[in-house]
Amino acid sequence: MLRLEAVCAGYHRLAILHELDLTVEAGEIVALVGANGAGKTTTLRTISGVVRPTGGSITFDGERADGVRPSELVSRGLVQVPEDRALFGPLTVEENLRMGGWIHGRQRLDGALAEVYELFPILAERARQAAETLSGGQQQMLAIGRALMARPRLLMLDEPSTGLSPKLTWAVLGAVKTIRDRGVAVLLVEQNAAQALAIADRAYVLECGTAVLSGQGPELARDNRVRAAYLGL
Ligand code: ATP
Repeated sequence: MLRLEAVCAGYHRLAILHELDLTVEAGEIVALVGANGAGKTTTLRTISGVVRPTGGSITFDGERADGVRPSELVSRGLVQVPEDRALFGPLTVEENLRMGGWIHGRQRLDGALAEVYELFPILAERARQAAETLSGGQQQMLAIGRALMARPRLLMLDEPSTGLSPKLTWAVLGAVKTIRDRGVAVLLVEQNAAQALAIADRAYVLECGTAVLSGQGPELARDNRVRAAYLGL
């Protein structure tokens, strides 16, 4: 579904990604783990069109996706939830959600809203409340819900566990599995490698902008190099 081949990208003259190869197939959760500054966020921003690659190619559903505007990629089904969540604080939960579905007509929007409320019932309870009054965990659910309103086929999540308790992190990651089971592929960036590897079908370990290891999630969690460097074991 998504294929990165030898992708190079960075900021101005600063090269961050070095010939990165990565794939995500339909129906899988793929985790991207690695230390601070390894280039995880840059990878997502390059896929979503915010950062332009300086080399290599990105294809989504067999079509070139590099050099394409982010809004065009959203309508093709590729949607990112940014790490800072970027909610509209004074707007209500439902207004935030409806904004996420701007590319669809009224009828599809109502259907998507019902699905988000089924996944996160707390958002239905808080529908008329301002987004800024929600707890951290609820705000993360809202950010994911708003991305789902665009009906993505590939959802990219940047550190959804940031600032959440372990219990809330598991609740959010549980929802990520449900999203996958509903047929949406997920590319998940996580600082918290143990939790990400526990739910991922496959994972990549990123070091200095390149994938140094990849494999099935549980298999990587047993790898001695991963255990020593990322799981503190
Ligand atoms: P973190 O978990 O800290 O976010 P990360 O693996 O997601 O780490 P990136 O955010 O992709 O890493 O950052 C990779 C490198 O790019 C870092 O050295 C960072 O300082 C640099 N960087 C990130 N954003 C910018 C920017 N807008 N301009 C210049 N350099 C940047």
